[in-house]
Order: sequence, then structure tokens, then C-alpha cells
Amino acid sequence: MTLPRKKIISANWKMNITASEVAPYLTTFLEEMKQIDGVDVILIPSFTSLPKTSELLTTTQGIRLGAQNISSYDKGAFTGEISASMLRDLFVHHVLIGHSERRHLFGETNAVIHEKMKMTLRNEMKPILCVGETLEERRTGKEKQVIEQQLREGLQDLSLDQIDNTMIAYEPVWAIGTGQTATVEQAQEAHFFIRSIITELSNISTSQKMRLHYGGSVTPHNAEELLSAPDIDGALVGSASLDPHSFAKIVLKAQST
Ligand code: PEP
Repeated sequence: MTLPRKKIISANWKMNITASEVAPYLTTFLEEMKQIDGVDVILIPSFTSLPKTSELLTTTQGIRLGAQNISSYDKGAFTGEISASMLRDLFVHHVLIGHSERRHLFGETNAVIHEKMKMTLRNEMKPILCVGETLEERRTGKEKQVIEQQLREGLQDLSLDQIDNTMIAYEPVWAIGTGQTATVEQAQEAHFFIRSIITELSNISTSQKMRLHYGGSVTPHNAEELLSAPDIDGALVGSASLDPHSFAKIVLKAQST
């Protein structure tokens, strides 16, 4: 059973684009988006650029706001943390959880990631759970084992309704920011596998509805091919999203697939 799933393209600006750079970016991007229809877009700025992006997007249809991280704590004495209610206050709809940079540079474990998933869902936002193997794990044939563990631990004990409100991004660590994209065959195989695990954790209807992003050196040149694979429903774009023209081109490619 295959259901049509609307394509979704997300921009992870990481620690780039300051608050004062948001307006010029959006002026260009929104102009190019006028010709685009039928694709969902998520912009995921840094925390300090969220308010400006939120303010400028309020009247824009089809573009949602995402955050790059969330605290697993509710409120209180947690210096430097950003809570779910702070994000909701800025009309954030989606939260990136378990990005490989958070896992590998900041030591986030599957257990912490699971807490962040629950915090996001409890506060009526939608998580994008990132999973993916390192180069060493792929070389030693462990990629499926790693992805399955990240999925099972990240999604454990979630209700069907909560899984329905979740998206997954498959981001092989070796492809992020390296210019080395996964082949369409490698990416499709991983996405198909992820969907089969989601079926086990929920049911076929939930897994068929769930939109899966591919992330890792997506550009306007390779987007169309990747997005044509049957289980790849979107792209999570880092470097190529920093230029509004190139990000708009990727959204345009999604429209034609
Ligand atoms: C990312 O950070 O999620 C990402 C996929 O980055 P890049 O597109 O630069 O590989």
C-alpha cells in the first residue's frame, strides 16, 4: 500500500544567519516562493533568529517554523536552556531532535533524545527525530542496527497519536556537510528500512502517512533524484539552505517530483 505524501523541505540554518540577516534572506526567499505550491517548507533558525523569523512568517502560508533543539526540562534553574513554552511563545511548530551534531558534539544520548521527544509532543509541537550511522558503522555493516536502536529508543512508549505527529530525518553522519551525498539506492534502502521499523512500532497506516526526510549534502543538483525515490518524502538541508536562491531551487525541485 502506498499513499501519496506531500513533499516537505526543511532548512537547518545551524549556527548561521543572525537576526539582522533574517529579513534580507526572507525577502529573497519569499519572492521565489511565490511560484511554489504543494510543498511544505520548514525554516529552522538559531534560537536568536527565531523571533525575527517568526515575526516575518506570521502571514505566510505553507511555511512553518522549527527549532534546532529543546530543553528536556520544563522550567527553572537550567542556565542556557530553552524550554518548550519559550518555543511555543514564538509559534514554533517543529523541533529538530537528535541531530547528529547534538549527538556527537554535545553528547546527547538516545535517553536524552527520548526525553526531548516527550517534551516536544507534550507541548503540542511536532518533533523531527534525526537518525543515521557514522562512516565506521556503515563500513562495518552496522547501519541498520544503529538506525533501529535510535528509532526504538527515541520513540519508545509514545502513543500512536504521538507517533502520528512525528517525522523522521535519515541523515547519515558521513554525508552531513561533507559534499558526499548518499546514493539514491543507499538512501532509499535506509528510508524503506525506517518505514518498516515505524510499522512495527505503530501500524501500517501510521508508517505510510509518516513523512521521512533525507539529509546530507542535498543541493539543487541532487535534490530531484533523491526526492524521486519512493520512500523519500523530503529533504533536511543544511549548507545549501543558507543561500535563499539555492534553497528555493530545492523547494522547486520538490514541487516537480
Ligand atoms: C544537516 O545539518 O542537517 C545537513 C543535512 O547538513 P548539510 O546539508 O550541510 O549536509
